[in-house]
Amino acid sequence: MSRGTAVRMWALEPATYRSPAHVAEFGSAAPRIPFPIYLVEHAEGFVLFDAGLDPDHAGDPAGAYGEMAQRIDMVFDERHLVETHLEAIGRSMDDVTTVVASHLHFDHAGSLKRFPRARTILGAGELEYARAPERFSSAWFRDEDFGAGTGLEFDVIDEDEDVFGDGSLVVRRLPGHTPGSLALQVALPERTLVLSGDVVHTRGAYESELHYHGDVDSVAARASLRRLRGILDAEKADLWIAHDPADWERFGGAGEKR
Ligand SMILES: [Zn+2]
Repeated sequence: MSRGTAVRMWALEPATYRSPAHVAEFGSAAPRIPFPIYLVEHAEGFVLFDAGLDPDHAGDPAGAYGEMAQRIDMVFDERHLVETHLEAIGRSMDDVTTVVASHLHFDHAGSLKRFPRARTILGAGELEYARAPERFSSAWFRDEDFGAGTGLEFDVIDEDEDVFGDGSLVVRRLPGHTPGSLALQVALPERTLVLSGDVVHTRGAYESELHYHGDVDSVAARASLRRLRGILDAEKADLWIAHDPADWERFGGAGEKR
């Protein structure tokens, strides 16, 4: 039986930030790092992979994230919202039937609350950790993004999940960055991509199999990188590292992908 494919995918125009370490090193040439949101069109519905920053604070990121918004030079406004993109392609929020949350860090979970009726897939252990994180990672979680006030009900998975049962979209369980970290494998008409979530942050870290300083479990994170490499080989897939500006250039930036 041949495998299904998605119709197309969009990388939405991303909100961005600059890391203070990069600014110290490169000054005004410091790269802007994307806060990604991807939308996949499948015959059975639209699937959102990650939900970016809190849409209630578009145009005023300090309102949500305090002085950090200025410290990391966040650029976030209406251009970066899921609803803006859906409107531009003649669709509405109701067309999104499935949301995959790579994890619940604030830069990935902001718009989840806009899709209370969608099937929202989350990795096992994520919600428990997000509610009671260790101190070093607590600044990454905001109850406003996933707590009871959002009305969200998560579909928790503890192994890989073939979203439509045709192999076109496969959620990959790759814990370590956080307990529930997920990546999304997307078979498009012309190629197969794996969208990294935060399983890895930079191309260099992927090549060197290096965990990230903010990972909750560094041993699990490195094991997930090894597994990811095996998946890419087996699926002949290309990896799109969400927060790596050079990867965004390699894939042609925001816009439609096939
Ligand atoms: Zn993260």
